[in-house]
Amino acid sequence: MTQRIAVLGATGSIGDSTLALLAAHATDFEVYALSGHSRLDKLFELCQRFKPKRVAVPSAAVDSFAQRLQAAKLDIDVVGGEAGIVDIAQDSQVDTVVAAIVGAAGLPSTLAAAKAGKRILLANKEALVMAGPLMMQAVKDNNATLLPIDSEHNAIFQCLPRAIQQDNSQIHQQEHGVRKLWLTASGGPFLHQSYEQMQAASVAQAVNHPNWSMGQKISIDSATMMNKGLELIEAAHLFDLPESQIEVVMHPQSIIHSMVEYSDGSVLAQLGSPDMKTPIAHALAYPERIASGVQPLDLFALAALEFTRPDLEKFVCLRLAREAMQSGLLATIALNAANEIAVAAFIDEQVKLTDIALINEQTLDNMAQQSLQSPKHIDDIIAVDQLARQLATAQIQALLA
Ligand code: NDP
Ligand code: MG
Repeated sequence: MTQRIAVLGATGSIGDSTLALLAAHATDFEVYALSGHSRLDKLFELCQRFKPKRVAVPSAAVDSFAQRLQAAKLDIDVVGGEAGIVDIAQDSQVDTVVAAIVGAAGLPSTLAAAKAGKRILLANKEALVMAGPLMMQAVKDNNATLLPIDSEHNAIFQCLPRAIQQDNSQIHQQEHGVRKLWLTASGGPFLHQSYEQMQAASVAQAVNHPNWSMGQKISIDSATMMNKGLELIEAAHLFDLPESQIEVVMHPQSIIHSMVEYSDGSVLAQLGSPDMKTPIAHALAYPERIASGVQPLDLFALAALEFTRPDLEKFVCLRLAREAMQSGLLATIALNAANEIAVAAFIDEQVKLTDIALINEQTLDNMAQQSLQSPKHIDDIIAVDQLARQLATAQIQALLA
């Protein structure tokens, strides 16, 4: 049967890879809905090409976008803003939601998809960092299916037995023998550079990832290794393990995408060319397999695979993420929010790359003094997120003063 897909964040990097796969397998998948935010010309072209039934744009753009579609004789329902994206995520016609909006902006629709019992292909790791327990509970309560497409988490998922893939609480069953998870990290563009060189980095240098082509925010997160920190938190929620059972190892070649270690000493790894079309294809077709068009891995051409310990003095954000996970949800929400504000300030050339970690750490310290209750509801989460954004913004003002 044809899977009807909503691609949320269709105009981004994950959106591109997903739509390339959907186009290549047009008989198996129907592009039912798309969403975009600032790149509306691109979204319009996608509407012409894929002819979805529904499209979400920012509220202020609904009328003009609808007129544009009408003039092109495209009969597509246009919805606006966050409410529009949420409406698509829970649309009864949608089987699968590709959650590929970047940052906290993706949380409401990802959670709505879980509550509506959808099959979710999760790229939006920030949703789990902000609301892991709520998300995982909503998935369980509503029989949703959560398939990670973040390459590391997809690799771990593939290395786990089917019983754990279908019910993550099974990971604690002794018979499965899962001892720990190994998250691999490329180290980004500054792996072999000093802290001082990182301090002087331009935006162009920071987004210039050696192995992966990605959106701007995640590229900068990779340069600071905040991305691996967010992924550590993501993995803890997805696979129901404490952070102490998740190890990060530097692996600059990005060929092993992550690993699972078992009690008998076996370590299972998933390997492949660094191309997001592989994990996306895996999740689209799961439990079957489809062609992704990705360059096959040429083992003869691989000179060596290296592994080293991460430098937590240089990559402060990775340490902060581990501490935040130990501390709890308030801290992980605050870390994510502060990081979004700090990354935006770096892109605006207001602060240095290395200031991101300082802003994040200071915001975490300031949040810890607020004596707040751990949030139980999405509204509480958003309130904590907003407060942390204010604290981080104040921190930036102080740095600039
Ligand atoms: P991009 O920046 O390329 O794309 C982000 C998407 O989100 C775009 O469609 C963008 O719309 C949309 N968007 C941005 N802000 C808003 C908003 N406020 N409201 C609604 N939509 C918004 O990012 P990526 O595709 O690289 O990343 C997407 C997610 O996937 C992130 O969470 C990232 O961490 C994760 N991920 C990405 C990987 C990659 O290889 N790219 C790998 C693993 C995970 P527009 O462009 O029209 O403004
Ligand atoms: Mg990743």
